[in-house]
Amino acid sequence: MTQQQAGRLWVVATPIGNLDDLSLRAQETLKRVALIAAEDTRHSAPLLARYGISTRLVALHEHNERDEAQRLVGRLAEGEEIALISDAGTPLISDPGFRLVRAARAAGIAVSPVPGACAAIAALSIAGLPSDRFVFEGFLPAKSGARRERLAELAAETRTLVFYESSHRVRECVADMVLAFGATRAAVLARELTKLFETVIDGDLATLAERITADANQERGEFVLLVGGRPDDEDARLAEGRRVFALLREELPPARAAKLAAAITGAARKALYKGD
Ligand code: SAM
Repeated sequence: MTQQQAGRLWVVATPIGNLDDLSLRAQETLKRVALIAAEDTRHSAPLLARYGISTRLVALHEHNERDEAQRLVGRLAEGEEIALISDAGTPLISDPGFRLVRAARAAGIAVSPVPGACAAIAALSIAGLPSDRFVFEGFLPAKSGARRERLAELAAETRTLVFYESSHRVRECVADMVLAFGATRAAVLARELTKLFETVIDGDLATLAERITADANQERGEFVLLVGGRPDDEDARLAEGRRVFALLREELPPARAAKLAAAITGAARKALYKGD
């Protein structure tokens, strides 16, 4: 008796707006597999039609994932190849698919990514905020009390924070961030990325709040909200040291001004003035 070879689950990223952003490998995979598990089959139909992909679709969303995952794992175990897609971007990133991937792995089935668009990464790549380390927070709680609590917990985070937000809450959310992080904290609002009305507002949280209030269009569409981490203490000391040094330098010789500025702020004297 020949042994049945297990299939493979392909986790395939789809565009976040611009339909051209579907990789060649994603197209080939979606054409080849026996079945595509999609978050919303009606939503994905136009994308698949555009690329001439006629593979059968089944729905896999938060309400049926628990049961459907087991059924799909059964098919994978019989040797089928199945692709998982969500409405936009990378499945599992604030999207369904976690249970299916976990169940497939638990059953010893190979799971492979076909990477592509992800709104968080696209936003981070253009925001101009530190991206060597960052924290993906996804959606904040919808209720104001819980949201403020979560933001308060994040106020001391020094890495760049990345949030997803929907159009009907972006204004309140930025207002709560001003309270939690301060109006001068660096921030970027990336709206409708890859789409016709793509807009990126950068500056600090006060700038974002002003721009959203001044232009109602800035509240429309889909958003990634990025907030710079709390300035590292050493950086803050140095910035303050430079400020105080510049003030003292108007009245004192540079070496004396640097010595005093260093004593007042705790910044390293040599970083303020490399004199003799
Ligand atoms: N899985 C997706 C991904 O890889 O980015 C995210 C899905 S999540 C349900 C949808 C959220 O992603 C939106 O509310 C918005 O915060 C963000 N988003 C999706 N597309 C976007 C776009 N084109 N521009 C800005 N944000 C977007």
